[in-house]
Amino acid sequence: MKLIPSFSVDHTRIVPGIFESRVDTLGTETVTTFDVRLKKPNREPSIDPAAMHTMEHLVATYLRNHDEWKDKLIYWGPMGCLTGFYIIVKGHPAASDMYPIILESFRYTSQYEGEVPGATPENCGKSLMHDLPMARWEAEKFVKYLEENAGRNILFEYPKAERLQLEDGQQFFDS
Ligand SMILES: [Zn+2]
Repeated sequence: MKLIPSFSVDHTRIVPGIFESRVDTLGTETVTTFDVRLKKPNREPSIDPAAMHTMEHLVATYLRNHDEWKDKLIYWGPMGCLTGFYIIVKGHPAASDMYPIILESFRYTSQYEGEVPGATPENCGKSLMHDLPMARWEAEKFVKYLEENAGRNILFEYPKAERLQLEDGQQFFDS
């Protein structure tokens, strides 16, 4: 039996950006998962959980109220490694097509003032774990990075590595 090489992301080489993570077909519909990466995995500190949580709430609020994107968004949520987020959208846009809405969402987060939306025990699983000042700081850093690298392939090209095989023959997937 011939093994078809499978590739996963080389986390030692990822830099911040917006990357196509996977494309899935559900019946006749296509959905695309993007890796919205804010930090270099394993090479710089990840994001504080409370700041990550607040960014999750603010970006979700922005996207779910956005005239164009509210109907295309399926899912928005943080990665367990706290270096970025996943966004799942309808269709198969290019990573570079996601740039404007990601930039807008994080700009909104970087400038947000007031109560964090949904940070109440009724609406959130850990309503005390929020940090708006750090969320704003991290979002602003990402906005600057996206602006400084506008139009560069570095923002959209995923470094690939051969997929990890586990001892029992299973393959490792991170999402
Ligand atoms: Zn929450």
